[in-house]
Amino acid sequence: MPVSGLPPYDDTNIFARISRKEIPANIIYEDEWALAFHDINPQAPVHVLVIPKGKYCSFADFSASASPEEIAGFIRAVGKIAKDLGLEAPGYRLLSNMGMHSGQEVPHLHVHLFAGRPLGRMIPER
Ligand code: AMP
Repeated sequence: MPVSGLPPYDDTNIFARISRKEIPANIIYEDEWALAFHDINPQAPVHVLVIPKGKYCSFADFSASASPEEIAGFIRAVGKIAKDLGLEAPGYRLLSNMGMHSGQEVPHLHVHLFAGRPLGRMIPER
């Protein structure tokens, strides 16, 4: 369900199409709740995107409207993917952009998983 004041979920967004396997992606994980694939324009040696299977525009939408099962399934999938990639010891960063100020480009919730080198400051200085 869309957050009040924000546009409704757009079924034609690129991650919806990847989720439906209409367009290819380098998929590394899939279960009932989540799908993960490599970012097409990686910003770190490891840059994976994890999306929920449900139709959620953003973190705002997901946190407000997803069921407890969807939330638990998605969060556990993110943790499992990072663990299975061997990222727990060296460490990793999770990031999810929501809305205009964040620069969110694709209107389907996605968590960026970055790793593979020291990642520096969390938010660049202006
Ligand atoms: P955001 O700015 O948080 O919405 O991030 C969108 C991300 O999706 C960017 O890092 C893009 O490089 C990535 N992206 C866009 N299209 C694709 C695609 N077809 N396959 C994989 N990653 C994509």
